[in-house]
This record gives sequence, C-alpha cells and structure tokens, in this order.
Amino acid sequence: MSSLKSSPIPLFKMKMQEKGMIKDIKEIIVRIEGLPTCLNGQIVNLGDDVKGIIMGFDQDDVLALALGDPRKLKMGREITGVSEPFKIPVSDSMMGRMITALGEPCDNGEPIVATDHIPVFKDSMPITSRARIDEYLPIGTKIVDIFTPISKGQRQLILGDRMTGKTSVAIDAVVNQKGRNVTCIYCCVGKSLSALEKLVGTFNRAGALDHTLLIVATDSAPVGEQYIVPFAAASIAEYLATKGRDVLVVFDDLTKHAWSYRQLSLLLERPPGREAYPGDIFYVQTQLMERAGKFDKKVGGGSVTFLGIAETQQGDLTGYIPSNLSSMCDGQVYLSSVIFSEGFRPAIDITISLSIVGGRTQPQVLKKLSSTLRSDFAKYNEIVKLSKLSSGLSGEAERLVRKGEVTRSVLQQGELEPSPLAANVMLLWAIEKGFLVGKDDDYKKAFVKDIYPFAEQHAQRLIDAINETQDLTVDVSQGLEKLMADYFASLGG
Ligand code: ATP
Ligand code: MG
Repeated sequence: MSSLKSSPIPLFKMKMQEKGMIKDIKEIIVRIEGLPTCLNGQIVNLGDDVKGIIMGFDQDDVLALALGDPRKLKMGREITGVSEPFKIPVSDSMMGRMITALGEPCDNGEPIVATDHIPVFKDSMPITSRARIDEYLPIGTKIVDIFTPISKGQRQLILGDRMTGKTSVAIDAVVNQKGRNVTCIYCCVGKSLSALEKLVGTFNRAGALDHTLLIVATDSAPVGEQYIVPFAAASIAEYLATKGRDVLVVFDDLTKHAWSYRQLSLLLERPPGREAYPGDIFYVQTQLMERAGKFDKKVGGGSVTFLGIAETQQGDLTGYIPSNLSSMCDGQVYLSSVIFSEGFRPAIDITISLSIVGGRTQPQVLKKLSSTLRSDFAKYNEIVKLSKLSSGLSGEAERLVRKGEVTRSVLQQGELEPSPLAANVMLLWAIEKGFLVGKDDDYKKAFVKDIYPFAEQHAQRLIDAINETQDLTVDVSQGLEKLMADYFASLGG
C-alpha cells in the first residue's frame, strides 16, 4: 500500500455515470429516455434538488416517481442516473423525534446527525440469519395478552371498521413498552394532521416518546411518500435490530398504504385489477411484511415485530386488502363495530381473533389459568343471544352465564391502562375461582381497579414470584389464595 501511495504516477478514480432525458411529466411520475442499465428502486437525480425513484419500465422508457416538488422539473432536461439504491439517513439517537419518509426531521427540532445511510427497498433477511421466535411481547391489552399473545418477531394484524379502537390498541402497545427495553417505531400513513397531533400529545403525556420514533407521511404529504414510509420504517427497525435491539413497529394504517400504491399505479398507467388495485399490490405488501422476524446473534440478535392496522368495510373480513394482509400475518386482532356499539371496550371479538405463534411464548401461568376461558366466554355470548328468546337456565348453562358475566366485566379496559402480567394472573384467578360471581358491576369494577395496587402494597413477593417463574407454581397458587382472602377481608366482607 505504501508503495502505491508514494507512486509517482497519479491514480484516478473512475466513476461511471449514465445519462437520460426527461421525456414527459405526469403529476409526480416522470418518464425518462435513456438510463439503459438502471434498476427498480434505484435513485435518479432529476435536477434542482429533486430526486426520483425508479418505479418501473415500459418498452422504451424508464418511469420514476419524483420525490420533492415536481413543478421544478423541466421536460427535455438531461439527467444523470446514480447506480445506488434509495437510502435514508439513520442515527442511534432518533428516539423522541418525528421524521418524514425521506428521513428528514419534521418536528422543528435539531437536525439529526446521521451515523449511517440505509437502503429503503431491500430483500428481507435470509432464513439463515433468522432465529426461533421464543420471546413473549406483552402489549398491555388484557384480551390480547391472554387470548392472542404476541411474540417478538411476529406480525400481527389489528383490523376492524372505522372508529372501533384500532389505533387505541396500538398506542397502548407502544406505551406498555416503557421500561421494557423495546424500541418502538410508530409509522403513520395517510393520517390527518390533527390525528397526528393528538397521537403525539398522547405519547408525550404517557411518557412514551423516550423509546419511540415517529415516521410519518400525512394525508397532505405527496402520495409517493405515503407509499415509501412503511418501507423506511421497516429499514430503520432492521437497522436497530442488527444492533441487538428489540423493535416494535406499528403501521397505522396499511389500507391507506394500499390506496397510495393504487394511486401511483394508476398514474403509472398499470392496468387496474380487483377493486381497482394493481395486480402486484399483494407482492408489494408481502415484501414489507416479510421483513419482520427474530434474528440470529451473528446479525445482531435483535427482533422486529410488526403490528399492522387494516380497515374493514362493514365488518367484511373478505375485502381484498384485509384478506391479503391477514394471509401475510401470523394472526389477527379483530375489533367489531357491533361489540363497540354494545359499549364493550376494547371491542375485540375473541371468537375470530387469533395468534398463530404467540401461544408458544406465552407465560405458562396465563396459559394454565385461561385454558377454558375462551371457549366458555364464546359459549356465554351464544347463550346470551339465545336466552333472549327463552326463559330460565339451568345446570351448565347457568354456570357459563355466571362465569361469562364476570369475564365480561374483568376483560373491559380503558385507554392507556396497560395491565401487567401479575395483574392479569390475579384477574384470571378471580374468574376461575368464582370470587366475583353474583356481584354488582361497581363491585367488580372496584376489584379490577384495586387488586393489583393492593398486591403492590401487601404482596410484592407474590408479584415478584409471578414475574420470575411465569408459572402457576405451588408458591404462586398459595400466594394468590392468601391475596384474595386478604383483599376481601379488607372490604369487611
Ligand atoms: P379510525 O378508523 O378513525 O382510525 P380507530 O379504529 O383507530 O379509528 P380509535 O381512534 O382508536 O379507533 O378509537 C375510536 C374511539 O373509541 C376514540 O374516541 C377512542 O377514544 C375510543 N376508544 C377506543 N378504545 C377505547 C377504550 N379501550 N376505552 C374507551 N374508549 C376507547
Ligand atoms: Mg385509527
């Protein structure tokens, strides 16, 4: 090397650059002549600080999506192609910030000093870099943690009609990661500015911004940014995972992402297919969803968990985009507008919510205590519907109704009231042992609200034992029995 450095012959670094010409501009789609070897997803310099991403080709031309103000572009302008993929800047200290799909801060804060630049469109991690999904990720919503548990590295879909509480479940999941060493990325696609402001305010009040990055493309952002933003979020998550971090990404929501791709495709003059979506919408969204996973130690050992939100129309789970997304995920949490209108919150329909991989990592104690609860609760709901027609119940039906009434009260949960593991265990114990049977609503509500704080005061050892063993050991069972006896004695009953 030293001999080269001191070589009397000057060494030149050669750089190849391809040329092309802007042939046509249609809104944000630029048709380019030339650039013979460019590839899909590469970046191209369209002049005047406007960059473009190659989005496809036709017989003679290259089609690029303009990122930036397309009014600055001029037809006939000579442009240069850069043979590198579209990248965004990242840094290890982005938590608490809000950035755009292009990685630029949009919260009036200090500029972010990039430690690296990462490609946005890339293949997912190969199978050889993946590890077994073996860790539980509690999200604080009782119904989800008990019936459809989520694991680190899983993809879970939250779906339901408009205004059924989808965002609220996702917000609670992010807030619940406080102090748990899980980094969160909240990716907003096509949200209104006011909804975004409300979201930031909620995170701020809940103290969740220290572990959360917001990456946003609002409904007023260019449609290209709305299409890119989930991919950018996935890339940042992968980057953090390769540094060993566990990352939870929320996509709010993927239906709007599909809309943005449909809009782009229509501008690209691709033939519309079912529900006017282009034929490759499934391919585009799977490319995104398959980037979740738990990764091997040799690539950092972190994990990327996806919570994707999708909107249904009038409860139709067979809609094109919701059914596509369901098939790409490892489970779904379905929020029903009927349950919502009955006043039950969160309005999750446990009969059609499921988690394929979560059961593997769920703490034994929850598994043991809830083994018959789902089917008993489903039967209770059926009996309630039927018993409106008949009068008088007996035997097994009577038992199911009594248990169901208690379960219904215990599973209700307000917003921003995450429930820890030990609290869930205490509530399940009370249901299984029938402590709340026949009690009025206020009594049950008070129990749900007070039992965990009571245990923190009088039975911290029990809470520690539940968290450590995560099993229904003899010690834990005896501790729970004593706790309940002490609690009910404290009420004087
Ligand atoms: P959109 O379709 O507009 O995105 P969404 O399905 O995300 O709506 P949210 O915005 O989360 O629904 O919630 C709808 C309404 O229900 C809000 O007013 C919210 O405050 C209320 N809500 C949601 N979950 C709960 C809960 N657990 N307890 C009380 N209110 C709730
Ligand atoms: Mg929402």
